[in-house]
Amino acid sequence: MPKFPGIRGFFLDEVPLLRQSSRGVRGVSIPDCGLKKTGLKKDEGAYINKKFIRKDPPNLPEVSEPSVVRHFTRLSSWNMCVDSVFYPLGSCTMKYNPKINEKIAGLENIKNIHPETPSFLIQPLLKIIHDFNCILCELTGLAEFSFAPQAGAAGEFAGLKIIKKYFDMKGKNRKKILVPDSSHGTNPASSVLAGFTPVEIKTGNAGTLAAEALEKYISKDVAGIMITNPNTFGIFEKDIRKISDIMHKNGSFVYMDGANFNAFLGNARVSDMGIDIIQLNLHKTFSTPHGGGGPGSGAIGVVESLKEYLPVPYVKAVIKSGANVKSGVVDNGHIKQDIKGAIKAKGLKSGSGLFYVTAADKKYTIGRMAPFLCSFAVLVRAYAYLLSLGKNNIGSVSEIAVLNANYVKKKLAKILQGSDPFEEGLCMHECVFNDKAIEESGVSTLELAKLLIDYGFHPPTVYFPKNIHGAIMIEPTETESIRTIDSFIKAVEEIKFKVKKSRAVKSPQKTKIGRVNEVLANKKPVFKY
Ligand SMILES: *Cc1c(COP(=O)(O)O)cnc(C)c1O
Repeated sequence: MPKFPGIRGFFLDEVPLLRQSSRGVRGVSIPDCGLKKTGLKKDEGAYINKKFIRKDPPNLPEVSEPSVVRHFTRLSSWNMCVDSVFYPLGSCTMKYNPKINEKIAGLENIKNIHPETPSFLIQPLLKIIHDFNCILCELTGLAEFSFAPQAGAAGEFAGLKIIKKYFDMKGKNRKKILVPDSSHGTNPASSVLAGFTPVEIKTGNAGTLAAEALEKYISKDVAGIMITNPNTFGIFEKDIRKISDIMHKNGSFVYMDGANFNAFLGNARVSDMGIDIIQLNLHKTFSTPHGGGGPGSGAIGVVESLKEYLPVPYVKAVIKSGANVKSGVVDNGHIKQDIKGAIKAKGLKSGSGLFYVTAADKKYTIGRMAPFLCSFAVLVRAYAYLLSLGKNNIGSVSEIAVLNANYVKKKLAKILQGSDPFEEGLCMHECVFNDKAIEESGVSTLELAKLLIDYGFHPPTVYFPKNIHGAIMIEPTETESIRTIDSFIKAVEEIKFKVKKSRAVKSPQKTKIGRVNEVLANKKPVFKY
């Protein structure tokens, strides 16, 4: 009988730091530096408009070091997180993030590097960016990646901007982007932002886009298709190759939303599916903590013919030739192969003759997307993650992720009878249920989600995708054990068969804060204490 993790523990009260402040209290005391104190000199004051010079000291909290540590440690216990609970939030890939990634990203020589440091002082770091690019090319079969976009949706935007620029350069006015209704919600939004008109394609009951269904949408003003694969039902688009061929025949591009790359990482290459552009959410598949709106990385990869459109700056490898590193520049092409060839031609030992520089020489670049090169710490974590797995084990990530999701799908289908819209087939990294069975027990999708919190589980994604009634979308990821998953399934079973409506409407009850008004903060934001 699995035991639920539960969430009984300390729920300490906490007052804002400002209210804990006492005049003169200091977190750290440093010895007097012996320099004379000077105020603002008269002529210095002349440069600043008088009304901007403050008369009183700023109202900052004055607190001791233990107060600060306790404040934030106590606050952190109020939240559910991947390090404390199972987090089956569909389409978000909330896998456990190995601590080795943090350790590497936190090394002094990595975290303290100023972004303006000259290339010759940070060669190993530029090599990380360069080599990681090569690895992603190998995993996808594409020609080159850019790390400029800082989120998945930013990657989509960049990819569509590339398509836009391509047609603009050719003087062609292709306005439409086809978007199946099984795509992620960001897809039509990115299309609009990039200046296109999204055209929705209904996928019907099978959950996938049939190549035949595509034909009637094809015309000369279609710039491309944006397809999420696996789609938001967690199902692989099995016609993907045919779809790509149809698009290419029409002179259109195939953009794949690759946020769900963890479904086939190391087992299938998107180049074989005919994909021209993809974004990979490094913060999802490659295990960087995410969810709080912090830095991410929506790396975009493109085929050979679109390389010159990628954002700048980027890292390129050049062949070192005496002191003049500029000579013998390798055409930044598919970096790995070119360099291999160039090294061979020059009779150099691998690695020994390479120098890494940042460059902005892309002929048709869509421009800059980030203040500097990339979210470097995210990239380091992703790189550490891949290296710690090793080439031979990378494929097991997607194998176990898919196995876990299908285990959940089959087991829950027995409990939530008649609620699996795709009962016959297999899913990829996540599975979706409708609310038929739980509604019969008198529990709504929202209540199921809230009740699960009391059992010690983060709620799954709910009411998405929109075309599944009362959707419950579960992504267990590969990092969860069968023990954890069994206990989650047991909790759903208990909720379905044992929990009364009167209890359900009041859930969660064991948390610090119970049912919140989910729209109030958006509609009436309060920005002060
Ligand atoms: C998460 C996700 C996105 C958006 O990625 P962000 O990094 O949140 O911008 C886009 N598409 C799919 C399928 C996703 O799962």
